[in-house]
Amino acid sequence: MSSTGNLLITNLHQIVQIVDDGDTAFLAGKDMSSIKVLESKSNDLAILSTDGLIKFIGPKSNLPTDVIELPTLATIDACGGSVIPGLVDGHSHPVFAGDRVHEFAMKLAGATYMEVQAAGGGIHFTTTKTREATKAALVADFKKIATEMIKNGTTTLEAKSGYGLEWETELKMLEAIQEVADLHTIEVSATFCGAHAVPRGSTEAKQAEVIVSHMIPELVKLKSAGKLNSLENIDVFCEKNVFELESSKKILKAGKDAGLAVNFHADELSALGGAELGAEIGARAMSHLEEISEKGIAAMAKAGTVATLLPSTAFMLRLTPPPARAMIDAGVIIALGSDFNPNAYCLSMPTIMHLACVNFRMSMPEALVAATLNSAHSLGRGNTHGAITVGRVADLIVLTAANWEHIIYRLAAQCSVINTVVKAGNVVYQHS
Ligand SMILES: [Zn+2]
Repeated sequence: MSSTGNLLITNLHQIVQIVDDGDTAFLAGKDMSSIKVLESKSNDLAILSTDGLIKFIGPKSNLPTDVIELPTLATIDACGGSVIPGLVDGHSHPVFAGDRVHEFAMKLAGATYMEVQAAGGGIHFTTTKTREATKAALVADFKKIATEMIKNGTTTLEAKSGYGLEWETELKMLEAIQEVADLHTIEVSATFCGAHAVPRGSTEAKQAEVIVSHMIPELVKLKSAGKLNSLENIDVFCEKNVFELESSKKILKAGKDAGLAVNFHADELSALGGAELGAEIGARAMSHLEEISEKGIAAMAKAGTVATLLPSTAFMLRLTPPPARAMIDAGVIIALGSDFNPNAYCLSMPTIMHLACVNFRMSMPEALVAATLNSAHSLGRGNTHGAITVGRVADLIVLTAANWEHIIYRLAAQCSVINTVVKAGNVVYQHS
């Protein structure tokens, strides 16, 4: 496989650009339905990438001849297939030890997330296992997961800490994320989520204090020293009886003041007013929002904060879905994430898009925008990733199907329609 970032893809029926310029960082409202798609009856479309960036899109006959002769140019014959941007997973918890398959039975029998947690399971189970695990074991597991994600078309991933809750394990998790970011082909935007839950033996106020006065300053010091380059975001599980508004605000503001982007869990299980808080403090993104209020929707639309919706969690926990249609109508920028974690074990963004269409009543173009350009925007990459335009990073998925909608339509069989995954102009996965 080539690693020069020089790649020519030919014989395409469709190129799903999403937008056709580098300036548009997101789409909202009605614009989410009108994506830019190039189509050729004679399947003569081509994409050229040089040094990892998109250089040319259009009919092959218009290709600049000098670049076709590049000695290091890799080629793909798409045989009349289509191409979409690499998928961007806006929310995941991919670093943990131990699975929670045993709890799935409890949940099927009707136990809620909070009831499982009260019975000694849930996040505290994962926290115990993750504290016991070595960093090498966490890295090895995350690498396998990242490889599966790439196979499913994810080229950029938001990845959280949050199963340590104390300093040593939170740092171990962020270092594990950094190792995978350095070694693996997947691109990672790491998030410090030391306020994922209140650790046993502590209180909400005590945990908020230790995060603000110790953990955030130490992490930012490591980042400045070049040791945690992937660390970009600060997160809190803002929820009734977990981190309520006051302590959430304190932690998020401390993270923001230290240079991290605010991107947090809000209004999942109760309408606490997390959406309003995020809008007020200039959050870049908020996730979940199953219980968002009308005021919260208006505040997010006005502030331009991205709503990262998580269809697999709402599906598996049988939560009322977030009001995605009302949010789109109000002009809120909608993104999608897998929320991959031991409680909701789904890493496939094509499946996430399918669930968004069926359960959140989004159209296929809306789901694709949310899983590409808008989730790139939720990670500060809306001008460089998430669309196929000249100058953007060449993150691409070549599909065997002539029409791109098959990536959503074929539930749980999307892998068979993914022919090749390209990260920064290099082939990182090829269906055999
Ligand atoms: Zn989450």
